[in-house]
Amino acid sequence: MEIKIKLKPSSALDQFDFDQFQFGKAATDHMLVADYADGAWQSAEIRGFESLSLSPLSMCLHYGQTVFEGLKAYRQVDGSISIFRLEGHWERMNQSLRRMAMPELPAELFIAGIKKLVEVDQDWVTDREGFSLYLRPFMIATEERLGVSISREYKFMVVASPLAAYYSAPLKVKVEKHYTRACPGGAGMAKNGGNYGASYYPAYLAQQEGYDQVMWTNSRDHEYLEESGTMNLMFIIDGILLTPPTGETVLAGLTRDSLLQVAKDMNWSCEVRPIAIKELQQAFEDGKRVEAFGVGTAAVLTPFKLIHMEGEDYFPYVEEDAKMYLLKKKLSDIRLGREVDPYGWSS
Ligand code: PMP
Repeated sequence: MEIKIKLKPSSALDQFDFDQFQFGKAATDHMLVADYADGAWQSAEIRGFESLSLSPLSMCLHYGQTVFEGLKAYRQVDGSISIFRLEGHWERMNQSLRRMAMPELPAELFIAGIKKLVEVDQDWVTDREGFSLYLRPFMIATEERLGVSISREYKFMVVASPLAAYYSAPLKVKVEKHYTRACPGGAGMAKNGGNYGASYYPAYLAQQEGYDQVMWTNSRDHEYLEESGTMNLMFIIDGILLTPPTGETVLAGLTRDSLLQVAKDMNWSCEVRPIAIKELQQAFEDGKRVEAFGVGTAAVLTPFKLIHMEGEDYFPYVEEDAKMYLLKKKLSDIRLGREVDPYGWSS
């Protein structure tokens, strides 16, 4: 499929202050827009970033048929640009789209379109240490009709926004025993907007109690740990890396997958299995060294310094010599091309 390119006459890059900006408030010069109708993708174009005009009857404004992704492009040490795990994000986007009864995206649109957009806006990918260009592909239902049914028209878009070096300070999290993020048969494994909107209120309540974020548990009995905020969970207990399996209720995070691969290749012991609240409490009570952290595209790795479980506070290990930081460094080195990428993750 042909992607037309209509370049903007001038760039806003020289007005962008890389020393001081709030993430996600400004987009790069261009965006990708493709329209779907009559059972096929009709057109695709890269053009100047601008606001959309939508009829109030557009279905995405009513019934939540929306899907998004989030990935990053990096300036590597040799000056070239790498987009991390582009193919993995394409596969996950299509998995989300299937769950939301939306049309899948062909590689010529998702993969080639994102590569083209990054090439057009390449000057926005700065070589400042730790910075990246965040890419946000998304699709919305655009048929104009107030009927509760599958839309027959969609818009797929990609926008991009610079992201500063992001060190996430250790967080205080509360294990959530009432609210549920995802349940078997639900849509938790899809990056559908509604999942995120529905998580705000429990997170807000936890913040009112002085925590930064919630740690989600399984919907049936709230006995097993699943995710935290919009991150997958990892623990290092007595030197063993533990993470719950992904599936219908745990999003298949690409950072989790990458870190797990890197850990295995460093000959770490890794276990992918359900982790009960009781097991974690026991590890603390037995005096084992517990590292606990969330992993995801935004911050890569966010340590937890306090976990509130069933009325008690527990304090994971977050000192500088914690093993989790080795994992983060190894992945950053691969991403930035400081180390060869044996996995083919960079495109
Ligand atoms: N879980 C949820 C619910 C998320 O939204 C995200 C962010 N996409 C993740 C985990 C981490 O996924 P990734 O490493 O692919 O960013």
